[in-house]
Amino acid sequence: MKCWKKICQKVVVLNYGNGVKKIKIFDTTLRDGEQSPGATMSIEEKVMVARQLEKMGVDIIEAGFPVSSQKDFEGVQKIAKEINECEVCALSRCSKSDIDSAWNAIKKAKKPRIHVFLATSDIHLNHKLNISKEEAIMRIRESVSYAKSLCSNIEFSAEDATRTEISFLKMALNEAVKSGANTINIPDSVGYAQPKEYGEIIQAISSNPVFDEVTISVHCHDDLGLAVANSLSGIKNGAGQVECTVNGIGERAGNAALEEIVMAINTRKDYYPFETKINPKEIISSSKMVSDATKIFVQKNKAVVGANAFAHEAGIHQHGMIANPLCYEIINAESMGTETKLVIGRHSGKHAIISFMEKKSIPVNDTTIANAINAVKNSEKNEDIEQAIINACSTGVSNNARI
Ligand SMILES: [Zn+2]
Repeated sequence: MKCWKKICQKVVVLNYGNGVKKIKIFDTTLRDGEQSPGATMSIEEKVMVARQLEKMGVDIIEAGFPVSSQKDFEGVQKIAKEINECEVCALSRCSKSDIDSAWNAIKKAKKPRIHVFLATSDIHLNHKLNISKEEAIMRIRESVSYAKSLCSNIEFSAEDATRTEISFLKMALNEAVKSGANTINIPDSVGYAQPKEYGEIIQAISSNPVFDEVTISVHCHDDLGLAVANSLSGIKNGAGQVECTVNGIGERAGNAALEEIVMAINTRKDYYPFETKINPKEIISSSKMVSDATKIFVQKNKAVVGANAFAHEAGIHQHGMIANPLCYEIINAESMGTETKLVIGRHSGKHAIISFMEKKSIPVNDTTIANAINAVKNSEKNEDIEQAIINACSTGVSNNARI
């Protein structure tokens, strides 16, 4: 197989231009991700995941929602003490007691951030909060100002922003900025937006000079399977922060998957003039750790981190991979600390079978090739095909197999 590293380095050099914008990765695996039904982690597990997120290179760790339970408070507090490089963030509703709880949990962090949120859509204001728009603006002003009096680093989220009238959304975000917010988040809380539409909302905010001095953040849910597409559309239209989770876990259908966003940016530098601090070699171990801790298993065909993400069985694909990995693999498996797998199965062709034989030091001649192909093509479901090849070649059973 040709050297992946050389091929991909060339692609990267060709596409990696100047003016690369840094995108902050705000990981909410430990807050929104942990809100997945059944995904609750122990404090020790949360601290272990936080350390791994730091090692992987995320910029901000949203460690929890401290007012929601004593355990959550303690978990956030412990993470705040343990983490050195990343900002540690705690979530809070627009209420003094929530903000106090959030601040008490993170005040020992080296880089604390309070994340205050309030819903801004009519459906949430009228049916959940039962407050007027004027009352919402007042709550934003009072809560963000109060949070700012405790902590210099404040994020404000307009929950259900994508179902909020754009003029009111701008008014709410402007109030948050005037009250001291450094980051304004525009969540697609219910996974309702479409990529072009979401991009237009972010564009409408990012092009407004009122928001020039703050970071614009995106936070997307996957109810229609568009969380990653919407997030990428958001950064393409001016967002400087993406909120995401490892393996895409989160409320209902989940959040945007960190690994998919990062690898889309890394793989398509010609399209996304951005970079993140994420070390791709830590992505797969992070995925395994989160899966083990939450007991939410990663499907085999999951993008980037699924067991089959770098596996090829079809004969035509395997032949292409042997000739040049770029034929069928757009992500450099080595860059993620893993390797391409040519899985031998009934769909495999002669090239892959010979490659397997060579790897196993099985003599390659017409007879052994024919035996190996016969063993593969006649294999039963669930049979260990690789062992069947080894057996067929060692016993010398001949046949009339044809490719
Ligand atoms: Zn969310």
